[in-house]
Amino acid sequence: MHSSHTNREREFRMKDEAEIEQQFLKGQKTEDLGVYCDLFSAKCGEGQDGGVVSALLAAGLEDGTFDWAVVVRGLGVNAEVVVAKNASDVYLARGTKYVKVNVSAKLKELIKEGKNKIAVVATPCEVKSIRKIQQTPKGQAEITVIGLFCFEAFNPTKLKTQIKSCLDVDLDKCQKTEIRKGKLNITLDEQIYSCKIKDLDQAAERACSFCDDFAARFADVSVGSVGSAVGYSTVIVRSKKGEQLVEKLNLDKLPVDVQEIAKLSKFKRIRAQKNLENLQNVG
Ligand SMILES: Cc1cc2nc3c(=O)[nH]c(=O)nc-3n(C[C@H](O)[C@H](O)[C@H](O)COP(=O)(O)OP(=O)(O)OC[C@H]3O[C@@H](n4cnc5c(N)ncnc54)[C@H](O)[C@@H]3O)c2cc1C
Ligand code: SF4
Repeated sequence: MHSSHTNREREFRMKDEAEIEQQFLKGQKTEDLGVYCDLFSAKCGEGQDGGVVSALLAAGLEDGTFDWAVVVRGLGVNAEVVVAKNASDVYLARGTKYVKVNVSAKLKELIKEGKNKIAVVATPCEVKSIRKIQQTPKGQAEITVIGLFCFEAFNPTKLKTQIKSCLDVDLDKCQKTEIRKGKLNITLDEQIYSCKIKDLDQAAERACSFCDDFAARFADVSVGSVGSAVGYSTVIVRSKKGEQLVEKLNLDKLPVDVQEIAKLSKFKRIRAQKNLENLQNVG
């Protein structure tokens, strides 16, 4: 009973995802990386890693590829979705906020206001919501989707409490947060405070343990750090639109460690599968 229900759900999801791939993406496909036509490592100035996301947004706004960019500003409980209209707005929103943010709601608002030519930066779950919006008759704006690699996100209030108790630091006052090699590193007044991600388990969003997309498989361009050297971004180009955007930057492309990305993608997919099966067995 449970397994036929699970199989039906899986079939439905696969059909849904195949439609998104067919409508928006181009290139070869692997189970772990998704559809892609280019994959490389690059650096473009300051940012969380290689600054590629901010550079793509700034270039697209400057040449009118899009007029609005949905980004996230502020750390911890102060993280909020804002609309950047120029490069300086974009650079104010640099850096990763390790929280789940509803950027698709802001996109819907912009579309409702009649805005066209919009770029959105989003975690993989939000990328999928954005593609669903684009498939509706009301979602016919010209949208560029930049996806971020994502293993998990945290509840901002719980994360703040947990960090206060582990490190005696106020998350909302920090300048930067970075997750690397199983540790969260927090920069505050030029000092770095670190704790193990394992110690922050209580603050992780529960929904993330059922999420099977690491590499933002349905974005026009996906960007992360896994697979690249420190200070560089891994870039996966997945569509014609993504290709045209990336071409604006005239990048020096370096090779990436594909196995590293594939390993984490697979790990996340299997974790989601197991957690879903456990949930259904209990139910
Ligand atoms: C919750 C989360 C978990 C992540 N986990 C991993 C991981 O496990 N491995 C990995 O390789 N990479 C992960 N990343 C991506 C990575 O941290 C960088 O965001 C990515 O490499 C881009 O770096 P950059 O220097 O090009 O970005 P920047 O040029 O600094 O630009 C970052 C852009 O992302 C936007 N942004 C920040 N936080 C969010 C958010 N929560 N939702 C939507 N937009 C946001 C900012 O507004 C900015 O426009 C994660 C990102 C998030 C948000
Ligand atoms: S792990 Fe999945 S559900 Fe959680 S924020 Fe990342 S993409 Fe969204």
